[in-house]
Amino acid sequence: MTAFIEAASPHVMNTYGRVPIALARGQGCRVWDVNGKEYLDALGGIAVNTLGHNHPKLVPALQHQLTQLIHTSNYYHVPGQETLAEQLVARSGMQNVFFCNSGLEANEAALKIARKFGNDKGISRAQVVVYEQAFHGRSIATLSATGNPKIHAGFTPLLDDFVRVPKNDIEALKQATEGNTSITAVFLETIQGEGGLHPLRFEYLQQVRQLCDERGWLMMIDEVQTGMGRTGKWFAHQWAGIVPDVMTLAKGLGSGVPVGAVVAGPRAANVLQPGNHGSTFGGNPLAMRAGIETIRIMEEDNLLQNAATVGAHLKAALQAAFAGEAGVKEVRGQGLMIGVELAKPCGVLVQRAADAGLLVSVTSESVVRLVPPLILSTAEADAIVALLAPLVKAFLAE
Ligand SMILES: *Cc1c(COP(=O)(O)O)cnc(C)c1O
Repeated sequence: MTAFIEAASPHVMNTYGRVPIALARGQGCRVWDVNGKEYLDALGGIAVNTLGHNHPKLVPALQHQLTQLIHTSNYYHVPGQETLAEQLVARSGMQNVFFCNSGLEANEAALKIARKFGNDKGISRAQVVVYEQAFHGRSIATLSATGNPKIHAGFTPLLDDFVRVPKNDIEALKQATEGNTSITAVFLETIQGEGGLHPLRFEYLQQVRQLCDERGWLMMIDEVQTGMGRTGKWFAHQWAGIVPDVMTLAKGLGSGVPVGAVVAGPRAANVLQPGNHGSTFGGNPLAMRAGIETIRIMEEDNLLQNAATVGAHLKAALQAAFAGEAGVKEVRGQGLMIGVELAKPCGVLVQRAADAGLLVSVTSESVVRLVPPLILSTAEADAIVALLAPLVKAFLAE
């Protein structure tokens, strides 16, 4: 047992139910706690640590940046913004980028774009289509867009900007918006992350793209978790062969350095004008360097391919390990974003896995989520299965 911190810290606000472990250092896909116990990191800081820990190419680049500039403010040009924006535009086929610091900030900006896009057309109360089980963040606007009543509880009134629909049902989307001239955008996750690893079908994404074109709506995709190579392509919507009008990024973009981005296509690129939006920290030189180096190292080390092949290997190995196990409903996901859905709530597995030396999370109560660094090796994938499978089987037998 590694029960180091027995109770919540008295001076840190009690917003998380934490596992009683304090991590001290990491190397690759391994981390060590303050007592020296080793863990295989299949959580990657919740899909953030794209390059794992203490990456030998990333750390020296960030060290160098610290000696140059950390922060300057957006009153001046930040050359790294132009470099990172150009790289995101090149890989997405979109047009320009706004930089911020987190996922909810990127989504908040996207929702402002949806409102302003409507306002510019004379729509005074813009409405945005969102999804059941969606997760977009914890600010008032983004929690209102989120589909989980537990996240709403205690924070009403919610914004009434949203029309909520079930996923993968184009007829339901058409019906819910019929005759509603206030709709300006559809906002979706390609694979719902926090909501339980639910993919939107490629065909459905194509249908939404077509409907948005027909109706003059913005197609806005929250790639905060699925983007930056997580699924084996730069952005998960690329599997469906579509291009959105607005895409939000954060988690994996800076390999652990906080950075968020809103990427806009031609229909959304000029909606925000000087004075409409801003961020003090957004796009600072350190964050930009982290994003630029993340992309450079991902390409040098072929990590999109690695995410695709090691992810496919991991998924197949989990499916094999749980074949015939009635308590395992499904192993699903794409690339290194994998969920194992059990037939009963399994939050206790987070602690048990940690005790066994494996970091995972449980989302949506009954889905074990694996979002390891994109540098994961096949041997490490096998080690994840070897640690996780017996725990899950024992839990299901209880
Ligand atoms: C994590 C997440 C967010 C929120 O990101 P924060 O950086 O925590 O604000 C928003 N959308 C999706 C899809 C996410 O996975």
